[in-house]
Amino acid sequence: MVDYHLKMAHLYGNLLNTYGDNGNILMLGYIAKQMGVTLETEIVSLHEPFDPKRYDLVFFGGGQDFEQYIVSKDIQAKKESLIEYIENDGVMLAICGGYQLLGHYYTGAHGEKIQGISALDHYTLSQDNNRFIGDIKIYNEEFDETYVGFENHNGRTILGKDEKPLGKIIEGYGNNGEDQTEGASYHNVFCSYFHGPILARNENLAKRLINTALVNKYGKKADLLVSQ
Ligand code: GLN
Repeated sequence: MVDYHLKMAHLYGNLLNTYGDNGNILMLGYIAKQMGVTLETEIVSLHEPFDPKRYDLVFFGGGQDFEQYIVSKDIQAKKESLIEYIENDGVMLAICGGYQLLGHYYTGAHGEKIQGISALDHYTLSQDNNRFIGDIKIYNEEFDETYVGFENHNGRTILGKDEKPLGKIIEGYGNNGEDQTEGASYHNVFCSYFHGPILARNENLAKRLINTALVNKYGKKADLLVSQ
């Protein structure tokens, strides 16, 4: 009997942790346990290197503009290793501020340009005196799954080349309030504006993240091992 074990990096977990996003880590641990998998989490923060070979999963949460600005400076030193992880099909969940920093840039609420790492091809603009706040529901065609959540962001994200939205809007604002898209997916990176946290209300997505990481590491899914 193999012991299934996954190691997760929580990027800037001591800085980016707004609106209960850390609950995604609790949910991943809970789902992993049900699937017979142990999940170990380490925070990788300021001045610490990110080793792309060390991790099976990465979680990158949301934050306020101030913290995002600090992270934006530091993350440039991790840019190459994060891109290597993503291009090698590493599994990642990025929420709101984390999602924005994976793209080219984010213009903060006061017009300041906060540089991203261009790992994904989106960019994010601000909007004046407004935030997109409220319940949201989207549909992902590829997986035939519906996700529900709560969004709260100033940024308006425009998707780029090779990115698919995480889902099409059924209800809510999503990426920019205009093109009916929400979030992004690229290789095994899943991005979303859903707080609340997203995985507590969307168990199917939590299972998908764990299973994708298991396939990468062991070549098989845990739901083949443990009946659901
Ligand atoms: N500061 C960013 C925005 O308002 C991200 C906020 C967040 O992560 N919730 O768009």
